[in-house]
Amino acid sequence: MEKVIIAGSGCAGLTAAIYAARANFSPLVLEGKEPGGQLSTTTLVENFPGFVDGIDGPMLIMNMKAQAERFGARFAYSSVEEIDPQDGFIRVRIDGEWRETRTLIIASGASAKYLGLPEEKKLIGHGLTSCATCDGAFYRNVPVCVIGGGDSACEEAVFLTRFASKVYLIHRRDTLRASAIMAERALCHEKIEPIWDTTLTGYETDEQGEVRAVGLVNVKTGATRELEVKCVFVAIGHTPNTAAFGDKLETDAGGYLLRHQGTHTNIPGVFAAGDVADPVYRQAITAAGQGCAAALDAERYLANFGD
Ligand code: NAP
Repeated sequence: MEKVIIAGSGCAGLTAAIYAARANFSPLVLEGKEPGGQLSTTTLVENFPGFVDGIDGPMLIMNMKAQAERFGARFAYSSVEEIDPQDGFIRVRIDGEWRETRTLIIASGASAKYLGLPEEKKLIGHGLTSCATCDGAFYRNVPVCVIGGGDSACEEAVFLTRFASKVYLIHRRDTLRASAIMAERALCHEKIEPIWDTTLTGYETDEQGEVRAVGLVNVKTGATRELEVKCVFVAIGHTPNTAAFGDKLETDAGGYLLRHQGTHTNIPGVFAAGDVADPVYRQAITAAGQGCAAALDAERYLANFGD
């Protein structure tokens, strides 16, 4: 019987692994389908405390993993496929095999939705991103665009006005979904120009492979055009990665895992940390904090058992 299995190897999972390993539980970390999580697809991270000049997202993740390994965490390129809670332990199906664990920390993250256009995956980090907080500062005095019409899109557009010369807010309808206050804040800003009833048809790149423009189509008139932007910020929502747990664990209306006390889910011994349970903050540092909390909660829970 494992003491601690951690599902996910982003900031939350790796921080949980560091804490659980230092508590001598030799946790088994299942790296998941996107090892390293969202940070592994970003470039420079400038807002993680302690790195004055910033640190590369993949480097930060590699360091966290090495730190966890140093204290005895074990890693497997696997994902949880299903869970089957029992009295005092949880059965976890991994690669078709059932394993048993006293505690399970779910840190499987959330995946930003993208538009599904060709070449999209290759462009992430090269003028295509889903995180204005992470990447906005790289685009100073150049035009950028935000895709979406919700609170996230408006918030990101307003945030980006600190850096960009112009922020186009491209929405597929002619009214924003965002709350009135967020919509007003965005639409009243002199640097933000909404482009209504419009979707993207594709990305244009320069010789370095960086985005230089997007193709647009007006969904009402069918008119197409090219718009020069140095970066596309996609803000059309996130999907929490809960497919393996959704029917056993309580979620909110958006599908995010619900926590009751601290990081406890509705199943004893199962804890949730990071973006899979956090529709609000979604930052590397908050995910790391929650990973720490989940490991501490798991440690306290494990004290109930004699093994
Ligand atoms: P959201 O409210 O689901 O909005 C997603 C937006 O993306 C919608 O405008 C939607 O268009 C558009 N969209 C979806 N799929 C698209 C596609 N394939 N192509 C083009 N556009 C597409 O998501 P969110 O803005 O991330 O917000 C999620 C939740 O967090 C919300 O409850 C929000 O209120 C909350 N939130 C709050 C704050 C805040 O209060 N400060 C900040 C951020 C988020 P349609 O409108 O046409 O469906």
